[in-house]
Amino acid sequence: MLALSAEGILPKVDYAIFADTGWEPKAVYAHLGRLEREVAAPAGIPILRVSSGNIRNDALNPERRFASMPLYIRNPDGKEGMTRRQCTGEYKIKPIKKKVRELLGYPYPQRIPKDVFVEQWVGISTDEFHRAKDADVKYMHNRHPLIDLGWSRADCVRYLTSLGLADTPKSSCLGCPFHGNAQWRHIRDTSPEEWRDVVEFDAAIRRGNARANAEGNRLLGEAYLHRSRVPLDQAPIDHVTAAEWAALQQELGAEEDAEQLEEGVPDGCSPWTCRGEVRPHQDDFGLAS
Ligand code: SF4
Repeated sequence: MLALSAEGILPKVDYAIFADTGWEPKAVYAHLGRLEREVAAPAGIPILRVSSGNIRNDALNPERRFASMPLYIRNPDGKEGMTRRQCTGEYKIKPIKKKVRELLGYPYPQRIPKDVFVEQWVGISTDEFHRAKDADVKYMHNRHPLIDLGWSRADCVRYLTSLGLADTPKSSCLGCPFHGNAQWRHIRDTSPEEWRDVVEFDAAIRRGNARANAEGNRLLGEAYLHRSRVPLDQAPIDHVTAAEWAALQQELGAEEDAEQLEEGVPDGCSPWTCRGEVRPHQDDFGLAS
């Protein structure tokens, strides 16, 4: 959308906002820098980087409040569960709303008049139109220009390729539990340093986040980044175990299983497009903790 706007195919946007969880792959930060230099700056579009903190460090720091990642849990009785996903709301939506309020001239907690709002573009393509949602606040009106253009994911890839941006990486936290096996393998096989980082993090959160432990709210079971609920460096990312298939078939419709194991949760993590954590009518700083 940034390139389409910069090229004049879509109207020129006033700003682009990147919500930085502090734990994106190096390739994403490098790509963002390139987009800024080669696409945004020449078109006069500022890219605003906003942040609520570093999700990795916050999980491991007993002093920091931490909004939970969707970790896979094995309870002491052997039952499996997941922690609630709060991280997209805390690390992406919250800092974007804060910045939008500032841009509108009504920082929190000022009341925003009803006729004051931004038009916010969300990059959903036609093959995922079910993810298109309204914002949960009146001062943001969501639009989905790729759907309006009738563009599928393949159209987007073709367009990016025509601009020399075929290698656009997928944005998400390096250790996001929604990764499928393909993403875990990609990290392991292309970036040993980042693989070490996620393996270390996986071991460090086995008993839950540090602040909860420090406050005596210990996790009774064990937490894992990989769906198989075994340590990441031993997880079956090169093949699918029978136990994993069985667990998935209970969790999901069978036809989605293979794709999810390989590619990860289809909704992924994107502000205003994911299923769980955004509650209607909650404003900027009241997001759940
Ligand atoms: S990418 Fe994953 S871990 Fe990061 S904010 Fe989104 S859901 Fe949470």
